[in-house]
Amino acid sequence: MKCPTALLTLPLLFAAPAMAADAQPRPDQLAFRDIYKELVETDTTLSAGSCTLAAERMAARLTAAGFADSQLTLFADPAHPKEGGLVAVYPGTSKTAKPILLIAHIDVVEAKRADWERDPFRMVEEDGYFYGRGTADDKAQAAVWVDTLIRFRKENYKPKRTVKVALTCGEETNGAFNGAEWLAANRRDLIDAEFALNEGGGGDSDGKGKVIGQSVQVGEKTFANFRLETRNPGGHSSAPVPDNAIYQLAAALTKIGQYEFPLEMTDTTRRFFAEAGTARGDETGRAMAALAKDPTDKAAEAIVNADRFLHSNLRTTCVATLLDGGHAPNALPQRAGANVNCRIFPGHPIEEIKAELERVIGDPGVTVTQLPPKRPAPPAPPLDPRVIGPMQTLVDKYWPGLKVIPAMANGYTDATFLGAAGIPTYGIPGMWGDPDGNGAHGLDERMEVRSVYVGRDYMFDLVKAYADEP
Ligand SMILES: [Zn+2]
Repeated sequence: MKCPTALLTLPLLFAAPAMAADAQPRPDQLAFRDIYKELVETDTTLSAGSCTLAAERMAARLTAAGFADSQLTLFADPAHPKEGGLVAVYPGTSKTAKPILLIAHIDVVEAKRADWERDPFRMVEEDGYFYGRGTADDKAQAAVWVDTLIRFRKENYKPKRTVKVALTCGEETNGAFNGAEWLAANRRDLIDAEFALNEGGGGDSDGKGKVIGQSVQVGEKTFANFRLETRNPGGHSSAPVPDNAIYQLAAALTKIGQYEFPLEMTDTTRRFFAEAGTARGDETGRAMAALAKDPTDKAAEAIVNADRFLHSNLRTTCVATLLDGGHAPNALPQRAGANVNCRIFPGHPIEEIKAELERVIGDPGVTVTQLPPKRPAPPAPPLDPRVIGPMQTLVDKYWPGLKVIPAMANGYTDATFLGAAGIPTYGIPGMWGDPDGNGAHGLDERMEVRSVYVGRDYMFDLVKAYADEP
């Protein structure tokens, strides 16, 4: 599912009609719907669900479709028996072409029945929408990947490239067991691929049934949490001294608050600012295009920075998010601490950001410590025409007149782990979401039925385009 990113600024100028909805679903769509429903109705929350069960159910479907045991790998860390996953391999004919990897996470954000209008773990179709936790993030994609392999088998399709599917757990919960991270660390061979297709891209509708944009996610920021801490001998508050742990910490935080990391662009964000800016046509849009041409244009930067998503899309950001200190109302503080959350522009090692914070603070009395979980900081994947080209060709077919706009996410997905393992990972166009975010991570999550069915057709064609090509 698409994360809230700079994409929120995509123009409302495109006006290509979405493909006409089929009044009656095709038999192949109903077969897919069955997979989708089973995935949504398998609770995969960290608290009460089981990704392992969902992975086993998908493996059973692939087995029933004719996959050999040797082509299916169910995996789980013994310490996290319910957080397992599945890798399925559909062999290609070429000895030289590298595989492609289709990845989707199968865990979902918690959902309380009492808060929802409907049971979050029943998939309900109503008024042109599928409702249920995970319908948008990310079980539609996971179901399409499984369905794609089953259709390949039925067609006896012989791709040049090997096509791999990985269904993993733990994307939604920081610090939980993460299947993509585990595979990259322990079964790198199994998921080896020239590139991977993931969540994070996709289309936007105008909320009235019209698809107005399609994007591909190319790169994302990573994050790190730092603990800032000051210590002091303290004493009685009736006899204060200037040297005070809280003041010392406050001074450090003020410096961080006033510090602006320098503007940077990747090939992707430069193109995003040029194309999305030009299409917007307003003052911010003109400044975006000017900045893409000349990143030293301070006047343009000042206009763009007024948009918080664009501001963050142009640099590393660090912000104070938690605060603690002192131990009694009548004592001088012996300790004060804060959490600073950094969203790091691709290509910067986390140690470099820590060193920059220390430099900005300029006070060795303030300790800066990186907290777990420690995520990798891979470079952004290349804006490779061999990857982007087929996406655009098929968008021309499905949504004539739309241009696939590449964008970097301010948030993050499992692409971080694959990127760090040397597998460039792209969030693909296809299914579209509504302007309100479809309740992903929130209440009454839903996907437009047409978005799922048309997006599925697009994704199937896209996988074949890559699999046939090398
Ligand atoms: Zn997701």
